[in-house]
Formats: sequence, structure tokens, C-alpha cells
Amino acid sequence: MARDGGRRGDPPQSPPPLSVEVIDSHCHLDIMGGDVAHAIAAAQAVGIRRMVTVGIDLETSRWQARVAAEYPDVYAAVAIHPNEAAEGVDEHTYAEIAELAMLPKVRVIGETGLDYYRTPPERHAAQQESFRRHIAIAKQTRRTLMIHDRDAHDDTLRVLAEEGPPERVVFHAFSGDAAIAKVCSDAGYAMSFAGNVTFRNAQGLRDAAAVAPRDLLLVETDAPFLTPEPWRGRPNSPYLVPLTLRALATARGEDVDTLASAVAATSERMFGPW
Ligand SMILES: [Zn+2]
Repeated sequence: MARDGGRRGDPPQSPPPLSVEVIDSHCHLDIMGGDVAHAIAAAQAVGIRRMVTVGIDLETSRWQARVAAEYPDVYAAVAIHPNEAAEGVDEHTYAEIAELAMLPKVRVIGETGLDYYRTPPERHAAQQESFRRHIAIAKQTRRTLMIHDRDAHDDTLRVLAEEGPPERVVFHAFSGDAAIAKVCSDAGYAMSFAGNVTFRNAQGLRDAAAVAPRDLLLVETDAPFLTPEPWRGRPNSPYLVPLTLRALATARGEDVDTLASAVAATSERMFGPW
């Protein structure tokens, strides 16, 4: 969740469909509001067959797990978001996150990580402690770890290395530069790019996308946030993933279908089996 990128105005038009289906690796179906079945149908109509919907606290994590159980193509991520965790997290909450993680359609512990953009320094220790606990839950439940890292690249990578990463790690709404992308690729961490890769001022992000290995790339909306161009500022939704995927292919000088096939395979490795 990146809480900026406004939500004003009418919903954007659907882009032309992809010919190879991919998954939206990170959205918030609850925060988007509106009808879930409608959002899924609009996504599937343009080749976004599946989506991972992401909790930010206990209540929203329960909601994602429930919706994933109800809809075959929806998978859930459960965690306490770093901004919530900065206030401290009690043991009961960790226990319930671990319990939710064992449900069959819950494939991810996330979003967890560090957010120094919104958190004052005196709260960093609480945030790091929560991140460590979520890493432990991901390992214990053998789920994929999905990381929110905002203005905290060095500490995020350090804590992950100190704890020892779980088998599968995804950096959601990847925000590093080409050097951080290289560190992630050496460690085998997947990098999920959101609509901000399409922004005019995001050349650094496009450079990172260009050097990331193809088999570690994922694509997401972070809906309702981070709406891709040309709809920046409008409400985001999984059906807009094709815009971001095409921008990634352009940044990499790659064929869209080739990239989509790789993203689909990596998604299944990270969030599957379907
Ligand atoms: Zn998010």
C-alpha cells in the first residue's frame, strides 16, 4: 500500500487485453471498494486472470482470506503493514496471522517490511521487530514473504539477511534503483513493479526494471493506489495491469508476450500452485 496517487474521477477505460495471461501480484480489493466480482471480471477480460489481495492489519487480513476462499482466482496475503506495526504488535496478533497463513488460499505473508517515509526514527525499532516476526512466520508456514520497503532499502536488506530469508521473497512496488535491483537479483528476490514505473519522473525505476533478470519480475497494481499513466490520479484496479506490463516491456526492450510468459511463470512459482 502506497497511500498516494489519488482516487478522484471516473474509472479509467480498459486497456487492450494481453494475449498471455498474468497475475496482479498485489492489490487491495477491500480498499478499492465496489463489487469484488465485478473487479475480477474486468481484470479477466484483459488477461489478468488472477490476483493477490493484501491485508494491512488483522481485520483486513481476515477479509482477504475470506474473499480468497470465496473466489477461485483470488489469493490472499496476510500481515500487519509496517505503518500499523510502528505502534507495536501484540502476541495474539502474530498468532492469528500465522493461523490465517495456514489456510489453503493464503499464499503470502505481507505486506510487511519497513517504511521510513511515514515512520519517525523513534518508531523504527518497533517496525523492525514486526518485520523480523513476519519473516519468522513466513518461514514457519512456508509462505512467500512480500515486502513493503519505502525509503528503507539498506535496513530492509540488512534485517532480511540477518534473519535469513524464507524460500521465496517478493519486493512489492519495487522502488529501488539499478544497484538495489542487482542486490535483489543476486539474492534471488523477486521484484514486483507497479504503475509508478510508467510515471514521467521514474527513469530510475525503469533503469532498475531494465537490469532485473526476466525470471524475477512480477507486475502489480497496488490498487487502488499507484495508478499507471495515462490515468495517474484516477482509481486503480487490477484491469490496469496491462499498461504497466507494456511499460516494463518497453523499458526492457522486450516483446510483451515473452515478458508476460516469464511473469506468469514467476507468479506461479511465488504464489502457486494454482
Ligand atoms: Zn499495498
